[in-house]
This record gives sequence, C-alpha cells and structure tokens, in this order.
Amino acid sequence: VCNFMSHEKCLKNVKIPCSCIAPSLVRVPVAHCFGPPGHYKRKFCTVCRKSLESPAFRCEVCELHVHTDCILFACSDCRQCHQDGHQDHDTYHHHWREGNLPSGARCEVCKKTCGSSEVLSGMRCEWCGILAHAACYIIVTPECTFGRLRNMILPPSCVQLFSRNFSKLHCFRISENLPTESDEDDDVDGSTQGSAKDVQISTDSSKQTLKIFDGNDAVKRNQFRLISVPRIAKNEEVVEAALRACYINDDQREYELQTFTQQALLCDDVINRNDAAEDSNLCSVFRESVPEAWIIRAKPKDEEVIRIYPAWLKVGMAYVSLRVNKDSTTQTVIKEVLPLLGRQSECLQNFKLVEVLMGSKQVQRMVLDNQELILNRLKDIRKTSIRQMNQTRFYIVENSKSVVQVHLFVGGLPPQLSSEEYTNILKDELAIKTNVVSVSHVYQAQGAVVLEISCFSEAERIYMLVKDTTVNDKPLNAVVIPEVVASKIPQNCCPLLVFVNPKSGGLKGRDLLYSFRKLLNPHQVFELTNGGPLPG
Ligand SMILES: [Zn+2]
Ligand SMILES: [Zn+2]
Ligand SMILES: [Zn+2]
Ligand SMILES: [Zn+2]
Ligand SMILES: [Zn+2]
Repeated sequence: VCNFMSHEKCLKNVKIPCSCIAPSLVRVPVAHCFGPPGHYKRKFCTVCRKSLESPAFRCEVCELHVHTDCILFACSDCRQCHQDGHQDHDTYHHHWREGNLPSGARCEVCKKTCGSSEVLSGMRCEWCGILAHAACYIIVTPECTFGRLRNMILPPSCVQLFSRNFSKLHCFRISENLPTESDEDDDVDGSTQGSAKDVQISTDSSKQTLKIFDGNDAVKRNQFRLISVPRIAKNEEVVEAALRACYINDDQREYELQTFTQQALLCDDVINRNDAAEDSNLCSVFRESVPEAWIIRAKPKDEEVIRIYPAWLKVGMAYVSLRVNKDSTTQTVIKEVLPLLGRQSECLQNFKLVEVLMGSKQVQRMVLDNQELILNRLKDIRKTSIRQMNQTRFYIVENSKSVVQVHLFVGGLPPQLSSEEYTNILKDELAIKTNVVSVSHVYQAQGAVVLEISCFSEAERIYMLVKDTTVNDKPLNAVVIPEVVASKIPQNCCPLLVFVNPKSGGLKGRDLLYSFRKLLNPHQVFELTNGGPLPG
C-alpha cells in the first residue's frame, strides 16, 4: 500500500506497520501538535515514506514529519505527555517512531548501525531515545523507563490536564505565530489540491489518469489523489488502485467507484448539482487532457464486525470484536460487550459508547445515542470518507461524575490589587461566570491571577477572549496550567525545568525549544516570551 522499500532477503523480517493499519495499533489516541509548515531537509514523510523536499508539517513534540497532502493520512499517534481522564495508564510503553534517526545511530538489540539518510528506516523510542532496526525493535521489552534522562523527565502520569478542545499548541505553550521558514507557501491548513506531484499526468496513451475522491468530505474540500491506470484496466483493478492511493487496505470487492455525476444525482443540494454537472461536462469534452473524477464508495453491508475498546485501566485485551447487524443499536452493543469484558453484573446505564475519530490534528470524541443504529452510523462515516472509517474507533466508557477543573493563568492585569478587585475587573472585562469561576491564586506584584474553572466551555471562552482584551492599555495573556501530581513523582526523580528565551542566542531559540520538547516532557519546557515564569 505504501511506498515501502526493502531488500528482498530482508522482507521476511519486516515488522513495521504500514500507514494503512497504523490507526489500529495506537494504544492511546493522542493528537499531534503541528505548527505552520516549514522546510525540513533530509527528513522523510511518515505516511508516504518519500523525502520532504516541499514545505511540510512536523509535530512539535514528536518526530513525526508529513507532507502537507499526507497529513490527513497520519493518525493521532503522538506521545501521551499528560493524563486527560480518557485512557490513563500508569505504565508507559516505548513510543516507537520510524525513521529520521540521528546519524551514527546504533541498534539497541544487535549493536549494528541503523537508520539512514537515504530512506525512512530504523526505529526510535520518543521517550527514552533507544534505537533499533525495524526487524529488531519487536523483541525489546515494551515497557519504557524513560532512559538516561529518567531522573529529569517529568513523568506523564504525574501531569493531569483536562484539555478537551484546547489545542495542543495551547497546552504546551507553543507560540502559534512563528515566522515560517518558507516564503512561497502560505497554505497553512494543508489543503493542497490533490497530489499532482505524486503521479505524473501520463503522456503514455495506453494509460489514463483518474482523479479519486475519498467520499463526500474529499469532494467538499476538493482534495483528490491521482492514479494512473491502463486504459483497458478491469474495474476491480481500478478500485484497487484507488484504495491504495488513499492508504486503505480493505478488500476491493467491498468498494465501488461512482462518477461525479452519479454523486450529483444523489445530492440534494441544487447548487452543488449544477457545479458537478458542469464539471462532468468538462470531463467528457476534454477527455484526453482532464482526468476523470471518481468517488470511492463502500458497498452497503447487512452485517459487520466492529471492535470495541474498553476505556478503563489494566485490561488484558485491547479490544473485543462484535458482530453487528441492521438491528444493532448502541444499547444492544453495550449489552453484548459487557459480558465479554467480564462486567456483566453491572448496570447498562453506567456505560456509554463513544465514537473516537483519531485524526492527526485532533482526537474527536462523540457519545453515541442509545437508540442509534450502529450499521447506519458506519455507513455515514464511510460516506464522509473511507479513511475516516479507518481512523475511527468505538470505546466503551464508564459514566463518571468526574469533576471538571481547568486552571487558567491570566496575566497582564494591573499590579497590587486585592483578590476582590481582580475578580471585579475580570467580571467587567470578561464577564466571568462566578458560579463556575473562582480566583485561586493572586500574584499581586505581577498583576496576575490563577482561575479555577469548573466548566470546559467557560474555560475555552475565557481563554480565547483574554487574548483580545486589554486592561489599562495592557494586553492580557492566558496560559492553561496542567496539574502536577507531586505525590506521584518517583523519589529519585527531579524534573528539570527548561526556560528558553527565543529572543537571545542568535535566534536558535526555536530549535532549542523543539529539541527540549522532544527530549523531555513538553510540559516542563517554557518559552520566556510565551507563558514562561513571571518577572520578579
Ligand atoms: Zn504498506
Ligand atoms: Zn508524504
Ligand atoms: Zn506528535
Ligand atoms: Zn522508550
Ligand atoms: Zn538491530
């Protein structure tokens, strides 16, 4: 499916997951943290395995590098740097990332050199930094003890942050308006149109190039993949090529291709229909030069096997498989799954089924309605995008009455006021709701307070509003503060705090921040100009 290269004799040793099955191997879905795209030399894309010569994205806290048009196909397999109340583990496994190893890397297992600057190869744990060949890493014990920097790393199990919709950039205090290294590319959201560079429009008359859209989502964004097939290709071959272009490794017999016009007929939107019709006219007129557009659709099924992941701690198995048919609802699924997980004695009402979309930029969670028909839901997801189906998981979650608590630091207020005076200013300027927000700490000398907020949307609202608010002509600033559970920090561990002033030291600040965030827990790295310590 992917662009994987290997010596023929080595093929039997290959044990690395291909992009198409990566989503199924994620232990805890954690979104990546992408800044603006930049130029990264001698790095390789994790999705398509090709080198990054064009502007690309990299994760600010792990070694993931992806092309702008590959970003959709990466899944949320970043490092878990804090506990967020979803799937909190106390033991950590190595977090393997393939390729882009430092030069002179040596394999932990066989002690021979590994890694390469020519292709994506070799594995590295993003916590402890051990390196291994793709064939060797599989025998390393899974548990990670954070390596040589063990005593300096703030263990992720000691940090609690209920982040919900706060972006990773906010949680890790990474400034968003970094000067981009590129000047010709301002396409920040990665929605490049298709991937024309991957497949040359074929001039060979025995082949034709097709535009492949993955479901309605791709049509809406006008994102397509180009494939090149022989003109006399069989239908199945075309479907297979189309699936491969979208990193889908399912049986091609379950899919079919529809033309743009068929799509238009299914669509209720009149404006859309006109557009699409025009489009297809163009296609037939310029058949030779304009690639035909097709949409991948899943064929309807009467029965399916889905995987249900338990969201609680310390269970032997990662998931249970369950057969669902057209009568299955969320409720019946929960009822059938509980005995399989040894919790049949508990009340159904204590559990809910959560659909989790593991996108590379965000992990989205949605509680399914009790009466929702599961097969219909699967059909809807596939209609939106087959890739999205691949990145979706169902979790069974215990209803808990967990208390929401977000700590927000607000600075830039006038100094030397009392707690009440600060509360009043915030009431006037931000209209804080005092029933869910309280001032927990006051830093008089610096004119700053810490708010304790027991409602996510209020916390998000205040955070966004603070950035656009000035008090006495001074702009306010806000930082989301993670809670460090000091009692859980191991005795001999003394987490290092790193403060970087990006304005000094020959503008190496950004590189330094990036290196420290990857080397340690990003929660212990501070940028002085963005959420660093207060002066004085
Ligand atoms: Zn592959
Ligand atoms: Zn790529
Ligand atoms: Zn990452
Ligand atoms: Zn490790
Ligand atoms: Zn090795």
